[in-house]
Amino acid sequence: MDKMDKFEVLKKYFGYDGFREGQELLIDGILEGQDVMGIMPTGSGKSLCYQVPALMLPGITLVISPLISLMKDQVAALNQAGIHAAFLNSSLSYNQYRKALAFAREGRYPIIYVAPERLVTEEFLDFALHAEISMVAVDEAHCVSQWGQDFRPSYLKIVEFVERLPRRPVLSAFTATATSQVREDVVGILRLENPVMVTTGYDRPNLYLGVQSPRDKYAAMRNFVERHPGQSGIVYCATRKLVEEVCGKLIRDGFRATRYHAGLGDAERRNNQDDFIYDRSLVMVATNAFGMGIDKSNVRYVVHYNMPKNLESYYQEVGRCARDGEPGECVLLYGGQDVVTNQFFIDNNQDNEELDEAARELVMARDRERLKKMTFYCFTNDCLREYVLKYFGEYHSANYCGNCCNCLQHFETTDVTETARALIGCVSACGQRYGAAVILDTVRGADTAKIRQYHMDENIYYARLSKIPVYTLRSVLNYLLMQGYLTTTDDAYAVVRLTESSREVSAGNRIVTMKLPKDKERPAEGKRSRRQVGAGVSDRGLFDTLRALRSEIAREEGVPPYLVFSDKTLEHMCVVKPKDKGEMLTVTGVGEFKFEKYGRRFLKKIAETEN
Ligand code: ADP
Ligand code: MG
Ligand code: ZN
Repeated sequence: MDKMDKFEVLKKYFGYDGFREGQELLIDGILEGQDVMGIMPTGSGKSLCYQVPALMLPGITLVISPLISLMKDQVAALNQAGIHAAFLNSSLSYNQYRKALAFAREGRYPIIYVAPERLVTEEFLDFALHAEISMVAVDEAHCVSQWGQDFRPSYLKIVEFVERLPRRPVLSAFTATATSQVREDVVGILRLENPVMVTTGYDRPNLYLGVQSPRDKYAAMRNFVERHPGQSGIVYCATRKLVEEVCGKLIRDGFRATRYHAGLGDAERRNNQDDFIYDRSLVMVATNAFGMGIDKSNVRYVVHYNMPKNLESYYQEVGRCARDGEPGECVLLYGGQDVVTNQFFIDNNQDNEELDEAARELVMARDRERLKKMTFYCFTNDCLREYVLKYFGEYHSANYCGNCCNCLQHFETTDVTETARALIGCVSACGQRYGAAVILDTVRGADTAKIRQYHMDENIYYARLSKIPVYTLRSVLNYLLMQGYLTTTDDAYAVVRLTESSREVSAGNRIVTMKLPKDKERPAEGKRSRRQVGAGVSDRGLFDTLRALRSEIAREEGVPPYLVFSDKTLEHMCVVKPKDKGEMLTVTGVGEFKFEKYGRRFLKKIAETEN
């Protein structure tokens, strides 16, 4: 492969026509011999940033990756594309390991994935010190930082390793975690020299974002799954118990569902994960233990059965949706109990035993603050995408994304000053002693034991707002909290308190307006017609035929279907309807090598279907 340029490599091996945002800058930096750091969200194509130059640089590229499953998946994908790559980690027997090293010595692999703890072992060093290492690429580079979510002490060995090499290779680092603390750590700890830094957008415009507060979560979720026949999706639940329950119900209702949580044995977890990856099971019901290291690109939807503890987790989890860039749908099913559950987890978090009392308090306060922001996400009537991007510190000018439930819902700006004054008045009249639920129950005039016990039925605001629907009251109260017209204490009770601004409202010096839904009730999800995979294809039949062929090939080769061709590739194929090799190579995701392997079978199938 002498003197192919980066575009030729991209086309020949990966079958793509162009680079995505950020990729070229990073690749060019590497090719010029500079260190680089890429901070790009999940699914944006970080692997290509080191894989393309790896195929152009003279020697070997070592890729450091924290997880065996990640390495396996990537090596499988590279082999599928006709690139010799190998991994060296503890999943190999000693003999396999020695054999792989021997091949590596012969220079068979331009790309080798290595677990960090292997780097400074005698045997590996013996190989590396005598080989030409052109680049060390550190994937999931946030693992070097103690501030990151998954600190791996073994990542600290990377520096030691690099310093022992006779010639310093180019260092490249990649992560999806962007906080400045982690960024500084990566540059400092890995000792990147004057690196080219590239940060690209956190926006995933192909993901539809939605929030619902259904009375019956299971029914809402099942309904959603039903509307996505034949498509892969993940349903995240807060607890193992709920995973068992929801998965069981889905199976009973005739869905091809499987499950994943830390309570299952290793073998079963691996099995269920494979069933999902290989499309044998379509719905994965899981706790947040599932997902790290899953590169499956055609997950079409992610449903959150419970609200996660913070937006970091939420965005990471929905990030697993639609990594192929095709449309994907992410819906969060909110319930008030979710807040309580998360509060409980925060208050009883014993994860980090090294923390002293003061540090623990600090962590708790931070976690409560994050939970609050997560809860506001479920209640805001503004663009959800903008809310998330703002949270991650990204400026986003357009406040209408057109692909979230709020942008698609008709709102009208409503004057809620009177309601706001009553709510604030109630907080004041009860001596700022109760949480949001009690305040709401009071103004709507609920007749519950708790209200009587607290004597709130004697409060002058009792039943003052009984004519306004409770979901509107809840929206207004949440808006007041979001905008700082009211606040809550930081302890577990989240007592509602007054602020400077509340006094302005009660004094009549401030008008409060907010967006409220025009329709009486939010319309059921799914009445809207959104673009679905394969829907851009006029010929749904052909799409399904090609999908069936893909499954057949995947079965024959024992690889996941998306490694044969992605959904996007199949969709494009339906549009191009190639008649020969030349036309087939214009399809996105079809490179030379894959054409040799599968091209003709697809051409034949298209010809048959078209006649
Ligand atoms: P990340 O590591 O950033 O989460 P990956 O490297 O796993 O993302 O890439 C996600 C998906 O995007 C893969 O299916 C990959 O083939 C695809 N991809 C990457 N770069 C391009 C590109 N330039 N054009 C089209 N698809 C791409
Ligand atoms: Mg990656
Ligand atoms: Zn929006």
